[in-house]
Amino acid sequence: MKHSSSELSEQNFEKILFEIRDFVLNKLVPIELKILKLPWNEAFLELNHLRTYVKSKNLWCPQIPQTYGGMGLSNKQHGMVSEILGLSPIGHYVFNCQAPDAGNMEILMDFGTDKQIEKYLRPLLNGDIRSCFSMTEPQNAGSNPLLMDTFAVREGNEYIINGHKWFTSSADGADFAIVMAVTNPTHPNPYKRTSQIIVPTETKGFNMVRNIPIMGDTGEGYFSHAEIRYDHCKVPVTNILGNEGDGFAIAQTRLGPGRIHHCMRWIGICERAFDMMCRYAISRKTSLGKSLSEKQTIQNWIAECRAEINAARLLVLDAAEKIDKHGQENVKIEISIIKFYVANVLQNVLDKAIQVHGALGITDDTILSWWYRHERGARIYDGPDEVHKSRVTKEILKTYLPVHE
Ligand SMILES: Cc1cc2nc3c(=O)[nH]c(=O)nc-3n(C[C@H](O)[C@H](O)[C@H](O)COP(=O)(O)OP(=O)(O)OC[C@H]3O[C@@H](n4cnc5c(N)ncnc54)[C@H](O)[C@@H]3O)c2cc1C
Repeated sequence: MKHSSSELSEQNFEKILFEIRDFVLNKLVPIELKILKLPWNEAFLELNHLRTYVKSKNLWCPQIPQTYGGMGLSNKQHGMVSEILGLSPIGHYVFNCQAPDAGNMEILMDFGTDKQIEKYLRPLLNGDIRSCFSMTEPQNAGSNPLLMDTFAVREGNEYIINGHKWFTSSADGADFAIVMAVTNPTHPNPYKRTSQIIVPTETKGFNMVRNIPIMGDTGEGYFSHAEIRYDHCKVPVTNILGNEGDGFAIAQTRLGPGRIHHCMRWIGICERAFDMMCRYAISRKTSLGKSLSEKQTIQNWIAECRAEINAARLLVLDAAEKIDKHGQENVKIEISIIKFYVANVLQNVLDKAIQVHGALGITDDTILSWWYRHERGARIYDGPDEVHKSRVTKEILKTYLPVHE
């Protein structure tokens, strides 16, 4: 049986949440550290077994409409699922709703031609291939996407792409990249100069330079971020998504729902770190018969983290509900607020959980250090904190008039 948001009663949805939580806590959490330490080709095989099980339970692709073989959950419902999947770093991958594939699936569903859907979307939905999104360039400030030096020049029926990208997450082993490249450099509207083009990674001229080490961890396969040079990379003009110059407009459509999913994933991480912090505080004795949890500083951290996580969740679910009701273009402030607010709650909760664990907290014997390394980026990708705060403030101040003496 497949599910859709309209078909799911609250009771059925609660049952699904329970089923997913049970699976994540009992099947994923116990093996996550082992999986993350395996070479990707071995981790991949183990993850595939888990994916087969998830498919068999009809819990596959919770964010995708039923017509495309997913569960058809609303943004709010998928947000709640995303929190549970976030309890383990392998959760989203096992349910095929991981970034950057999830965003690419959305783009292909909305803008792909029939041929692109068959060739790229179907295998992605099925979990047979992976993909990546290649926009940021080392030589240009990614927070201003108008600064872009990757060009796709049309020659006959082909685009010839030249450029240098980095932080193309999960490019290692991906079958295709969606590349942001300038196709119309002289268009008077700078937001109409760029296009999104599908580039199979086997194309001559798609040169993966390296996986970039992140705080000492280079990663591999899905868990990696690549530097790529596009050197005279030729693809058919039919690989463009939408029309020439639509690149930014298409990118905008993936931002709202993507941020809900990320933020709820971060809340899942917070809940796990919080739980670990509480368990450790209760059991770690610092003097005879007295545990860490009796220290007022630790009590303050636990109370403050609880308040921050609760507040963060309410903010995100409110934004998700508003996107479902009013469309993401009418919820810009809320989307920017959750992006910087939740990323900072995440960083604080992880930091406090590590501090409570003492030296153990910075070892790789618990999952906390992996998250601390890999989730610091949360305050940078999808728009750094400062950009979102500035956007929110500009919107707020639009409603104020200067007072004249
Ligand atoms: C883990 C991770 C995964 C990523 N995955 C991808 C991916 O899959 N594909 C992809 O294309 N990119 C990806 N990125 C890149 C990401 O989108 C960029 O890092 C981001 O857009 C910021 O660009 P930048 O790093 O060039 O920083 P810059 O734009 O150079 O900014 C540097 C710093 O300046 C400050 N700043 C910038 N603008 C302002 C402003 N207006 N006001 C005040 N301060 C400001 C901020 O503190 C910012 O951190 C990823 C990044 C990370 C960390």
